[in-house]
Amino acid sequence: MDIESIITRALEWQRKHTGGDYELNGKTGKFIRLEKDKPINFLPAIEDPTRDLCTFPMHNYVKLSDGSFKSFICRKVINEPCPLCKAGLKASRRFFCNVILMEEDDPAKPQVDKNGLEILWIWSFGRTLKQSLDASAALDKGRYDQWVQTLSKTGEGLNTQYSLVRNNKDFHLDKKDLEAAKKVYATPWDYLIENVTPSAYADFIESQKEEAESAEADSAEEKA
Ligand SMILES: [Zn+2]
Repeated sequence: MDIESIITRALEWQRKHTGGDYELNGKTGKFIRLEKDKPINFLPAIEDPTRDLCTFPMHNYVKLSDGSFKSFICRKVINEPCPLCKAGLKASRRFFCNVILMEEDDPAKPQVDKNGLEILWIWSFGRTLKQSLDASAALDKGRYDQWVQTLSKTGEGLNTQYSLVRNNKDFHLDKKDLEAAKKVYATPWDYLIENVTPSAYADFIESQKEEAESAEADSAEEKA
């Protein structure tokens, strides 16, 4: 798959998963929306001292009985039975990291909120984009967290092209600033904690019930 279709899919996924700010585990959850017409600098931030990315299996774009789509974390990730696996739906691996947006005119400068705190966003992507990140120069230090990257878009319509470009600016995250930001802004772990509770699956279970009931009603109608 080429980078253009990968990023188109990433944008599509994010469009469906960004509903503005919302509360996540008592913090502000912000899923990044990659904007199409301007380059965005991002810098995956350290999630814990041993890694900068986390990954869990997800059931993506699950169609509910009302016609809407929703994604669910596979509950097997916490060693609990998963209602979606039980229904025969496949899970695929997604990767999550915190990112910090950089100022457009100064890619070495992170965007801050009104309190001067660096704003943490959550960025999520699939296996194919992960492979392209791995292949990029971002990993020449063995980690993602040392370099500012730019997602850029050129062209319009069918000629649209996306690429990931490493910015020449080196950016070093201040650990103290990051810790302060993580107290206010959600991390992928907050997302995980919030989305594997039994109530996180209620929409799916309810939707399954409705479908079973309507199938039953159909077959009763046929018999009548
Ligand atoms: Zn599952």
